[in-house]
Parts: sequence; C-alpha cells; structure tokens
Amino acid sequence: MQADTSSPSPFTKRLQGKVAIVTGGASGIGESTVRLFTKHGAKVVIADIQDDRGTSLCEELLSDQPGNDAIYVHCDVTVDSHVQNLVDTAVSKYGRLDIMFNNAGITGDMDGTILGSDIENFKRVFDVNVLGMFLGAKHAARVMIPAKSGVILFTSSVASVVAGETPHAYAMSKHAIVGLTKNLCVELGKYGIRVNCISPYGMATPLLVEAMGMQKEVVEESVCAAATLKGVVPTAEDVAEAALYLGSDEGKYVSGVNLVVDGGYSITNPSFNMVLKSYKS
Ligand code: NAD
Repeated sequence: MQADTSSPSPFTKRLQGKVAIVTGGASGIGESTVRLFTKHGAKVVIADIQDDRGTSLCEELLSDQPGNDAIYVHCDVTVDSHVQNLVDTAVSKYGRLDIMFNNAGITGDMDGTILGSDIENFKRVFDVNVLGMFLGAKHAARVMIPAKSGVILFTSSVASVVAGETPHAYAMSKHAIVGLTKNLCVELGKYGIRVNCISPYGMATPLLVEAMGMQKEVVEESVCAAATLKGVVPTAEDVAEAALYLGSDEGKYVSGVNLVVDGGYSITNPSFNMVLKSYKS
C-alpha cells in the first residue's frame, strides 16, 4: 500500500468565521492576539482606551489583507455601560460572539510592601484587573448563553502561581482571575461555553517596560536571565498562540484551566542553588 504523500495545507485558518473581542487589544499581548486572530480568519473587535493605537492597528489590519475584518471600540473595562456597548457592537456588526478575551490589565503602583500600599491604587488595580474582567465575562455570557456556545478567556499572570514577586494588589487580582475562571467554567459548562485563563511569565510589553522602568532590551535580558527555559525570549506572541489554541476548536474539550506560559519558571525555585553557589565561590 502506498504511503499518503499528500501534503497538509500550508496554513489553516483556525478561527475562520469566528468573532472575537480582545480587551487591551491596542498594545502588548492584546495587540499580538488581535494580529494572530485576524491572520486566522477571525473578525476582531479591538477594545481599549488608547484610541490612537487601537484605531491605527485596526486601519493597518484592514489595509493589510483583503478579507481582514476588524473594528475598534473605545471601551474602559471598568465601566459597565462601556462593556455592554462593546459586546452589543460586536453582535450587531458581526451577528455573534465566539471568543471574549478579557486581557486588559495594569500593574498599578510597583511598591510591593503591605505598609507602602496605597488604598486608591489597590482599588484601581482591582477595578481594571478584576471588575473589568468580570464585566467582560458577564456581558459575553449574556449573548453566549442563548447561543449555547462560546469561549471566555482571561489573562492572569505567573503571579497567580509564584508569590512574592509582584505588589500585593496585582498578585491578589491575578489569583482572583483563576478563581473566576474555575467558578465560571462550572456555571457555564452546561451551555457549552468554555472558560480558561492564561498566565504569562514576564514579556517586555509596554506594561512591563514601564513597571520595571528600564529599556526594553534590559527588561528582556533580565527576564531571560531568570528564566528556566533558555535560548528563547518570551514574547507577547507566545501568549497569543496560547489564546489561539484555547479559542479555537482544537481546544474544544479544554475548560477551567490556568494555562501557565512561563517556560517552566513557576515549577522551580532556584534560590537554594544560588545561595549554595555563593557559599562555594
Ligand atoms: P500593555 O500595557 O502592553 O497592554 C495592556 C492594554 O490594556 C493597554 O493597551 C491599555 O491601554 C489597556 N488598558 C488598561 N486599562 C484599561 C481599561 N481600563 N480599559 C480598557 N483597556 C485598558 O500590557 P500587556 O503586558 O500586554 O498586558 C496584558 C495583560 O497581560 C494584563 O492583564 C497583564 O496583567 C497581563 N500580564 C502581562 C505580563 C507581562 O510581563 N507583560 C505578564 C503576566 C501577565
């Protein structure tokens, strides 16, 4: 019997016909996801408060390839009516909503100590990182439940599994997202809706560059120096690929998962070896 030599299709559009919203879509992980989802045939609604960046990304995508379809919607995820309008705009323009990627987030004040923590900062971090993601899920569920399908994704962080490296408000907000993912997964499973979150390691996006107050190259260098997996620079595209998997039909039986995209950073603790080495030298 002859072997099947027919080659697989060189590029399969894994989100053809799907409609996706990406919050925080104008920059960093959101922007990379918008680009990748569009490449895979999704109609994408870019939601952000950075109107110039969001609009120019949208224009670039529309002029890039015939068939690309994207719109930009100004949306502050902390405002219920904005998120309601975002989801309603997606449905009225494209007729459905398949993927809601709640990704917009902030680090807040980088003073990590309990005594140095400012209450207004704490509230702001929770407004964006927790309430904002909750509202995104709520309005997405409103249209996904009657459709009996859909995927809700969140961006959490490696701070949801490794303690002591980020300010308390940020770490707490990212843990909250894992809780929301699990709770929603259980509630929405009966409607055929999947719910997952992604927890990235450090990626030199504007968020991290600003938080660390260093040049992008230095941020990348330090992230790589601390990494477990060597020889690869983690980028926003790596997170976008995880979102593509979870959002596409390839992930159709995956729900309730916190997909940690960290090259194995969170499963080890190199402190003991580092101390040992310093004693030996
Ligand atoms: P980024 O700053 O490049 O992008 C975040 C986007 O969110 C920006 O475009 C910003 O305008 C938008 N945004 C902020 N507040 C908003 C609001 N109220 N309403 C709507 N949009 C708002 O940062 P990023 O690194 O791409 O961050 C994306 C997500 O990834 C965040 O949730 C962040 O916590 C998470 N994350 C990032 C890293 C990292 O190292 N970069 C690591 C782990 C998790």
